[in-house]
Amino acid sequence: MSTDFSFENTENAFAYKSNAELKKARFLFKSMGNAFLVKWGTSITPWAIRFKLPIKGLIRKTIFSQFVGGETLGQTAPVARRLAAYHVKAILDYGVEGGNDGERGFDQACEEFIRVIHYAASQPNIPFISIKVTGFARFELLEKLDHSLDLTSGSLMKRYEAALADFSDGESAEWERVRRRMLKICEQASEKNIGVLVDAEETWIQDPVDVLSIQMMASFNKEKVSVYNTVQLYRHDRLSFLKDMLEAAILKDFVLGVKLVRGAYMEKERARALEKNYLSPIHVDKETTDRDYNAGIAFCIDHFDHIAAIVASHNDYSNLYAVKLLKEKGLACDHPHIHFSQLFGMSDHITFNLAKAGCSVSKYLPFGPIEDVIPYLMRRAEENSSLSGQTGRELSFINKELRRRMA
Ligand SMILES: Cc1cc2nc3c(=O)[nH]c(=O)nc-3n(C[C@H](O)[C@H](O)[C@H](O)COP(=O)(O)OP(=O)(O)OC[C@H]3O[C@@H](n4cnc5c(N)ncnc54)[C@H](O)[C@@H]3O)c2cc1C
Repeated sequence: MSTDFSFENTENAFAYKSNAELKKARFLFKSMGNAFLVKWGTSITPWAIRFKLPIKGLIRKTIFSQFVGGETLGQTAPVARRLAAYHVKAILDYGVEGGNDGERGFDQACEEFIRVIHYAASQPNIPFISIKVTGFARFELLEKLDHSLDLTSGSLMKRYEAALADFSDGESAEWERVRRRMLKICEQASEKNIGVLVDAEETWIQDPVDVLSIQMMASFNKEKVSVYNTVQLYRHDRLSFLKDMLEAAILKDFVLGVKLVRGAYMEKERARALEKNYLSPIHVDKETTDRDYNAGIAFCIDHFDHIAAIVASHNDYSNLYAVKLLKEKGLACDHPHIHFSQLFGMSDHITFNLAKAGCSVSKYLPFGPIEDVIPYLMRRAEENSSLSGQTGRELSFINKELRRRMA
């Protein structure tokens, strides 16, 4: 595959990092490459936080500063400004997951998302925020609705109508509050011209998340694209789901916003399927996931008149493939219906080289109190816990750049 640029230029990739910061990143990636350390750390840390052991300082100085933009919204500002200097935008990601403070906590999370939207609108460099429906809905309620949806047949929306009948009065009222929170967030975002990316989560709660996202897209993605649903291509049913969503978009005359990811819950998904004895929703191997992911990119670019896509990946090939397809079609890399994104602290070689080539690209920038972002940090540590693959690649780029600077 040939494009005019590659991701090998480490000078571009790390221009925003000082030598000291690069050395710190090297130390972190090396530590995360130690599988034993990560296994031990990810099991002990949530427990230590719960029992208020004094480890926050250590977390703050290490893994937190690598992957998180700050503990408060205000602390993300200098990070976003630094990215902006290299034409990289920021997607603010308020790190609450599965709140445990009941309805009051969910209302607070909703208000916080709205505060983030207003803040993003006041900044020149923050076009999107991301949300997690589990931040403002009870997991068990989503799980029950998802289960009822599985018991009926027909289109997702028809099954949804039928499934709602299974709710008690109390559950119906609770679901209505969830819907209202989602509506409020999307209304505010649309008004302020900020895009809302709805994160995808575990398959056993994902159907209601998809339903809500589609309903919001039907309302707010008319003249512009305000809402994006996330499609996890490690699932074997998602390419056809992408096609179904496009049909719905054409039928209801809205632009389909999609964030394409491979998926972050593979181990958990497989373990649950095994334990409960159902067919795993995840592809049998990485090659099949890669095949569907790249097919997803091609499908979106082929339907740009109805789809706006975000390529959210650290995979070199997939990002280059998207650029190549755009070029073949004579489309600009900053076309309003394409955007690229990587997580803050990872794959700078992709982000900053894409930005240098004029692509529209951003970093997912999580923020929040340390205790709230622990699940996110544990996922990053696990993802980087093998010196082969992604971590090895991060390390080799950092080493290459340090050597270049020394020379
Ligand atoms: C901006 C951004 C937003 C994201 N938002 C979400 C989100 O909302 N929801 C979510 O779930 N994830 C999300 N992710 C994480 C994403 O799903 C991946 O876990 C992560 O990006 C790694 O995949 P990759 O495409 O970057 O690269 P790669 O390193 O090429 O792929 C790794 C991924 O491939 C898949 N895989 C690995 N081994 C196998 C195997 N044996 N069989 C089948 N599949 C395999 C897994 O999904 C694994 O995570 C997001 C990532 C980014 C960059």
